[in-house]
Amino acid sequence: MTKLPSKIETWQMVALGKMKRATIDVPQLKTGEVLVEIAGCGICYNDHAVFYGEIPTRAVMPRTLGHEISGTIVDGDAKLVGQEVIIPPAMPCHNCPICKAGRENRCLSAKIPGYSMDIYGGNSSHIVVPSADLCYIKERKGIPLSHLAVVADAVASTYQAAKRADVQPGDMVIIIGATGGAGVYATQVCAAMGAKEVIGIARNEERLQRALKFGATHVISSQNKTAKEVLAEFYSYCMSKKLSPYYGWKIFEWSGTAAGQEIALELLPYIGKLVVAGCGTHKNEFSLSRLMTLEADIIGSWACRPKYYPEILNMVLSGTIQIEPFIKTMPMSQIKKAYEDAHRGGLTQRIVLIPDFN
Ligand SMILES: [Zn+2]
Ligand SMILES: [Zn+2]
Repeated sequence: MTKLPSKIETWQMVALGKMKRATIDVPQLKTGEVLVEIAGCGICYNDHAVFYGEIPTRAVMPRTLGHEISGTIVDGDAKLVGQEVIIPPAMPCHNCPICKAGRENRCLSAKIPGYSMDIYGGNSSHIVVPSADLCYIKERKGIPLSHLAVVADAVASTYQAAKRADVQPGDMVIIIGATGGAGVYATQVCAAMGAKEVIGIARNEERLQRALKFGATHVISSQNKTAKEVLAEFYSYCMSKKLSPYYGWKIFEWSGTAAGQEIALELLPYIGKLVVAGCGTHKNEFSLSRLMTLEADIIGSWACRPKYYPEILNMVLSGTIQIEPFIKTMPMSQIKKAYEDAHRGGLTQRIVLIPDFN
């Protein structure tokens, strides 16, 4: 039996770019809530972008960042104690018009660790969360529980985006930012959903070659190329494969960069779909009336509906989606260096922090 903690050990963001070790109270468990001992917490773009002030935030400080969490239930409903779980980053209210419309991942009252749960977040020893939307792990097939943290956000977000685009067997898909923290899963998810073509676009040639082993059927490097040059390469690939570049492609923009978004808009074809899933802050120039001519859709995708998690976890446990090559663990005591590394960019693996407070 795990010893119940009297306090939560944590790393708090105390100011922009400043993190401090702290000990905080365990909140009183309300009905339907459980206390989770955190096994791993992944570092997402949003975390370091908020930490370094790239994304403005109105949330309180000090508070603990981190919303990509896996762990073990140690207190709450006795039937649940001991169960291993993945915590969806957006835990909806299930009661508002947005939730009732089946769009609960975007519920405005959702509990989001690190953002809308007061001072509580994933860069901690423990966290209190509602039990209803947790993804329960029956077996792990040898994958460490800490590694499954990336399923919470990086993997699940790409699944949600593919659902938003209604990816079907035989579809033609383009993933922009295919080598990034979520992009590496976006290629795998679309391939797993039966997409016939999954074209990966990114800058780094070496990592693009890796994408060919993880779902991409073809890759295009955008390094030192204009959007029009990327479009020309896409056209010549389509010609070589006797595919039409002119209609129907589903494009996922995962880079969140100006260059990536420009390419996405350039590639958007007749009756095509563009799913904007990457996070960034700049503005784009685009003739909206082109959407009319193309009869194309541009849609956003954010987080993931909790009900999708069991299926996503199955895809990971069956090896359809591989996570191990894309993860690097670091002790949580090295959180400052980990955030610096993640912020600097160029990492080939996503960092998962392992609590080491004892
Ligand atoms: Zn995230
Ligand atoms: Zn709601």
